[in-house]
Amino acid sequence: MTILDGKALAAKIKEQTLETTKALAAEGKRQPCLAVVLVGEDPASQIYVRNKHNDCITTGIKSLMHTLPADTQEEELLALIDRLNGDDGVDGILVQLPLPKHLNEQRVTERISALKDVDAFSAYNVGLITLGRGGFKPCTPAGIMRLLEEYGIDPKGKECVVVGRSNIVGKPMALLLLAAGGTVTVCHTKTADLAFHTRRADIIVAAAGKADLINGDMVKEGAVIVDVGMNRKDGKLCGDVDFESCAPKASYITPVPGGVGPMTRAMLLDNTLTAYRLSSEK
Ligand code: NAD
Repeated sequence: MTILDGKALAAKIKEQTLETTKALAAEGKRQPCLAVVLVGEDPASQIYVRNKHNDCITTGIKSLMHTLPADTQEEELLALIDRLNGDDGVDGILVQLPLPKHLNEQRVTERISALKDVDAFSAYNVGLITLGRGGFKPCTPAGIMRLLEEYGIDPKGKECVVVGRSNIVGKPMALLLLAAGGTVTVCHTKTADLAFHTRRADIIVAAAGKADLINGDMVKEGAVIVDVGMNRKDGKLCGDVDFESCAPKASYITPVPGGVGPMTRAMLLDNTLTAYRLSSEK
């Protein structure tokens, strides 16, 4: 069994990002720039945003933080996005979700220019991925694909089972595995017999948000197991996969923490560099 070490790969991607930004600086080019918008004071969102800011700073990406009060009106937020869309010095725009209830997340994310949509949540970007026509890839599924690639795991011809069908993880994950030649099954809360599907999977991506949903009896020998889940059990962070019973059967498995999480963060930097290149080509 081999651990899919997302922490190590993310560190490598960060080093590469820093090299890229240093090279740009040496050529006298402007710094790539990510604008992050946080509305309200949700503690988890504050941590995520701070992490993203620190990742940018340590890799030579300029980080513009816009912190707005929880009672910000939608028009005000949309006006800020419009300004950032029109600012040639801003490459990527990210609005931290969830937004306060009175704001319409769909309207807000759709307002971000497709060329700056580094979270890749807009219908346009999802459409491009669905059609296999490029576009930004959402950070979590993109990070998982990069991790599989790093370890020489090719989904082509493999039975891939994705557990979860959310718009930010499950669905785009299924699309990327499909594009890579996998035979993909998507399971969710209405799936009649989850174990039937996971047992025949060569690659399992668990993204349900339920601690210990996948146990050793539900996976076949040699399966590749990717655990996206971030749950709390007895005060500790854990995934959707019961690591103890699954690891002995797996050929490769991600730890929680240290697997998918760091890769998600690294892919945001990668997408910001892509946005920078797109902006330079304009
Ligand atoms: P979500 O709640 O939007 O979606 C969960 C999905 O799982 C749903 O489609 C649901 O149908 C399915 N599901 C739930 N219980 C199930 C069950 N018992 N059997 C089968 N399917 C079931 O969540 P999300 O935003 O997709 O996130 C999923 C998990 O991944 C969460 O724990 C979240 O915190 C975590 N996450 C981690 C990262 C990371 O970088 N590590 C990024 C995003 C999300």
